[in-house]
This record gives sequence, C-alpha cells and structure tokens, in this order.
Amino acid sequence: MLLDPNYLRDRIRTVPDWPQPGVQFRDITPLLQEPESLRVLVQHFVLRYMHSNIDVVAGIDARGFIIGAILAYELNVGFVPIRKKGKLPYTTIEEEYELEYGSATVEMHADACKAGDRVVLIDDLIATGGTMMAGKKLLERLGATVVEGAAIVDLPELGGSKLIRESGLPLFTLVDFSGH
Ligand code: AMP
Repeated sequence: MLLDPNYLRDRIRTVPDWPQPGVQFRDITPLLQEPESLRVLVQHFVLRYMHSNIDVVAGIDARGFIIGAILAYELNVGFVPIRKKGKLPYTTIEEEYELEYGSATVEMHADACKAGDRVVLIDDLIATGGTMMAGKKLLERLGATVVEGAAIVDLPELGGSKLIRESGLPLFTLVDFSGH
C-alpha cells in the first residue's frame, strides 16, 4: 500500500494560542489515537534504525517517551528517559538550556547508558532545538554516541533543526510545519 504523502501531517492537529497566545501547538495525539496511524508512525522510525546497531533509545519528557519506548521495544533495545528537573529519583546529571524567557533543565540518571553506547535521541517535535541539544549533551557526558536525533515534527522557521544539524548531530523528522 502506498501512503498519501500527507498521511501523517493530516493527522496532526493544530491548536491555536495554546498554551499561550501566539503559539500554534502541533498536537500529535490524533496520530497516536488510531491503530493504523500509530503503526505507520512507529514503522517509519523502526525502518530508519533497524540496521543501525542501536544500543539504547533515549526519549525526551514527555511525548518522546511514548514513541521512544515503542521504538526501543521494536528494536529490541532498552529505553532511557530524559526528564524535566526534579522527576528522577536516583543520582542524576543535568543540563540547563535557554528558553525564549528564562531557562529549563533536563536530567538523566547517571547510569542510564554507558560509554560507547549508540543512542537514538527522540522527541515529538523540534522548535528551537534547545531541548534536544541538552539531551545530546547529557548522553555525551556519559560517553554515549548519539547516532541521530529523531522527531515527528520539525518547525523549521524556529531554527532548531538547523542548529542541531550544525552541531554535528544528524536529524530525522517526518513532517514540517511552517507558519500557520
Ligand atoms: P524546543 O526545545 O524549543 O525545540 O522545544 C521542543 C519541545 O517543546 C518538545 O518537547 C515539544 O514537545 C515542545 N514544543 C515546543 N513548541 C511546540 C509546539 N508548537 N507544538 C507542540 N509542542 C511544542
């Protein structure tokens, strides 16, 4: 079966002015909700990484956990969470990064992966790229090799995907949204 090129994009809902005025929130829950589209979505990532000798999938809080955990299961590797500050119970390492106003911090357990592990780092969406760059730094501090960043959606106008690629991390995304 050949897919309509807009199959995934048509199942992402745009919610204007959420969580604050001016933000076009790209909501992936319709894509997760139907058994067919969930399967199609996961399959894109599985096919991308099934021959890449991946050791670990790292998912970013919170929507990166959903797709990341399924991907890890399908690749027959483990899953590790990168969480917002204050959520992980054991010894953590942390990275702070800049937001438009203020800053945010992500954490990972200090034993989440080991030196030399080949990791795919996944989130639902790339906006400014700050979150994924912070995740990359955490993984690299533990000596892991981040093979590629992956996300469902790229918002190229916000420059994050360019920033990530320019940092030397390849990036794989499925759907672009520009403007409204
Ligand atoms: P950034 O660090 O700026 O690339 O932001 C990416 C993170 O924020 C991801 O974890 C996304 O889930 C979330 N995010 C940022 N902007 C949006 C948006 N317009 N729609 C949905 N999620 C967003």
